[in-house]
Amino acid sequence: MLKKGAKFGSFAELEPLLEKFAEQQCVPYGIYCSLKVEKFFENSGHQLPPALKYQSFTYACKHYGSRREKGLGIRPNQSSFKMKCPSRIRVCADLDCNKLEITCITAEHNHICDPDLAPLYPEGRQLTSSEAESVMNLVNMEVQPALLQSIVRTSTQKFTTLQDLRNLSRRMTKGNDKASSTNTNASDVQRMLEELEDMKKNDPNSKLCIAEKEGKILYIFWASSQMQADYKQYPEVVGMDNTYNDNNSKMPLGIFMCHDRNGHGKVVAYILLRSEKKEILHEAFSEFSACYSRK
Ligand SMILES: [Zn+2]
Repeated sequence: MLKKGAKFGSFAELEPLLEKFAEQQCVPYGIYCSLKVEKFFENSGHQLPPALKYQSFTYACKHYGSRREKGLGIRPNQSSFKMKCPSRIRVCADLDCNKLEITCITAEHNHICDPDLAPLYPEGRQLTSSEAESVMNLVNMEVQPALLQSIVRTSTQKFTTLQDLRNLSRRMTKGNDKASSTNTNASDVQRMLEELEDMKKNDPNSKLCIAEKEGKILYIFWASSQMQADYKQYPEVVGMDNTYNDNNSKMPLGIFMCHDRNGHGKVVAYILLRSEKKEILHEAFSEFSACYSRK
């Protein structure tokens, strides 16, 4: 239980409780003003059990503290989450019993805590490593950023911003320079097929259809289970729009969309086409109606 005076024999014992607390508050929390046991030993000569990890720390709401205003004042175009929110848990080691003790706990916030807002924080927008890898495969296929963003939102339900995707791309390219050099022989199409197989595995109710003729791909149809659910809800009008030059193979990408009651577009299927020849388009539309008429 997290309450004032509660004691814990290790940080590992306390950590899940802190995470649960943050989850209930619907706001990300972080560790601030911490002093690790090693540093504490250097300063004081008092050896605490390494399992405590910290001699002391504050586990505080993302909006805790005030923004630094040095020199000429607030720098332009610099955003900060800090807004003097008082919500925090202060933890200090009890030197008599060598345990971590909660010395202060404040649950109140000076801002709205809404479960609907939680996914909009950078922490909620972070992609898992497998999601990040999927994104990088699409980046490598030179998928346009806005389209990539829409794919990420549809497949992960995370509100990833264009800047998040740029940062991710920069970070992953740096880290993967060596690894990717061994992969350059794999063609874009091959990589995309692998990617789609993975997406299918992660979303077994999704619909994936790869139509081939004489060893050449005619079209690839993809509808995630979320897209199918959106279609079920708003099937009144469906439009199709194509984008070009999204990939090295120069295959146009068709996007089937419906509109929710607020007029926002919802992607209900993607289809990558060999060309826009009448026969191929005809088959693509048949695939779409076959996918949805079964529902
Ligand atoms: Zn707060």
